[in-house]
Amino acid sequence: MVIVFDLDDTLYPEMEFVRSAYRAIARRYGRGLLLAMFSAANPREAFDSTGLPAAEVIGLYRNHVPDIRLPWMSLYVLSRLARAGHTLGLVTDGRSVTQRHKIEALGLARFISPDLIMISEEVGEEKTSGRAFRSIMNRTEDGGPYVYVGDNPAKDFIAPNRLGWTTIGFRRGGNGENITQADPADFPEENRPLIEIENLGELLGLVDFCELINE
Ligand SMILES: [Mg+2]
Repeated sequence: MVIVFDLDDTLYPEMEFVRSAYRAIARRYGRGLLLAMFSAANPREAFDSTGLPAAEVIGLYRNHVPDIRLPWMSLYVLSRLARAGHTLGLVTDGRSVTQRHKIEALGLARFISPDLIMISEEVGEEKTSGRAFRSIMNRTEDGGPYVYVGDNPAKDFIAPNRLGWTTIGFRRGGNGENITQADPADFPEENRPLIEIENLGELLGLVDFCELINE
């Protein structure tokens, strides 16, 4: 089976990346900025609270080497799936430098081969266009079945649904503080994941089940 993951708020909580950026900003511009940033309601407010030029803080946010770790559940699930012989991939929207730094910090190269890592800026199109998913289909020899695991019904599942993939999403913001707290039920059917799970751990049972019915 080919199991492809979204990155932010699917394999790790994106707020961890945001907090890492706050620490990087404080390291460069002064520790006194930290409290206001951490008390802000959202990243935009946090950046404003520094009083620094927006281009400076946003540049640092995008380009800093993040201090983030793969949560133990993601580590467990990725190792189990890789050890069971599944092919793993990644489709993520974002800038190349930002996403590459995250992938490196999380150690995802242990589980995902470089030719199955698709970042929208490198692909040249956002994930909704379907190009990243089609590239993965072209690059995998065993021909599926294909699974995409994501968190954002606004954009994650449209293309893989159209391509006949099994799409899996989180019931209510997978990590508890997801930046996108969208409920799939509020979206048209083409946006919704085929299957909803509570946490990444449930994926293991689902994959075993899909293997059984595909045998
Ligand atoms: Mg996401």
